Amino acid sequence: MSDLLAWPVPLVVQRRSSFDAASALVGDLAGAARRAGAWLAEAYAAVERRSASATGGQVDTYLSATPVIGAIVARLAEDRDLTAAASVRLVDDITFTRAFVDTTLRSKEPDEASIEATVDAAIERADEIRGFVDREHDTIYVHEERARAATVIHEALHLYSSPELRARGGRALDEGTTELFTREVCSANAILREETYPRELAAVRRLVGRLPGGLSRLAEAYFDGEPGLLRLAFEAPPGHDLGSETAAVRLRRWSRHLRDGDYAAADALLD
Ligand SMILES: [Zn+2]
Repeated sequence: MSDLLAWPVPLVVQRRSSFDAASALVGDLAGAARRAGAWLAEAYAAVERRSASATGGQVDTYLSATPVIGAIVARLAEDRDLTAAASVRLVDDITFTRAFVDTTLRSKEPDEASIEATVDAAIERADEIRGFVDREHDTIYVHEERARAATVIHEALHLYSSPELRARGGRALDEGTTELFTREVCSANAILREETYPRELAAVRRLVGRLPGGLSRLAEAYFDGEPGLLRLAFEAPPGHDLGSETAAVRLRRWSRHLRDGDYAAADALLD
């Protein structure tokens, strides 16, 4: 606030004699405060709009307005008869937790001895997240109090993505890629995104920097289920010799480092 109010003071002093400067100053400051107040209220409202949650229908609009992925998502929506509008369920805390436990049990299929522990871990995890996808039922669960627009965007991208990338590249690659596209959608639509999956995101950004075709190529790998395309980032640049190891083998090593959480080793492969 004090920074915003600092600017009228020198203007006032320049324009008026020292005699009435003080009273004018008070008047100008009051006006500036009112203007700054209105401006601030508007700014806060804008920030609120950009960080509030979004409906599935709004997210469909955001995705289609994003340059690199709009056309691919439109094609997938048509082929798979899928929309975020039909997939998003905004639910209360209990429904959210139950659905997350249910989805976790179906995906992990624990044996009888570890059911209790799996349920406990899922309940704990459900407390930390804002949304998730039940792929089996093409449903995006969104926590009614915790979710933001970017949450729904992130989960909608998971829904549209092919399971291939996660199956072959692991969770870190999947989350890093999903987050990178989440940020593309957010910046194309003036939506705020807080720091999420920072290490995974940095690793995928580095990969894209070396990938011919950049984000468009990454989009093919992610949405169309062609993770093998990512090997192109590991081809030797002209004039470099990477030894006998093929790009495909280097991609597998990189993915393994990500799975192990060894980001330094993964980055070193892309130096
Ligand atoms: Zn995710």
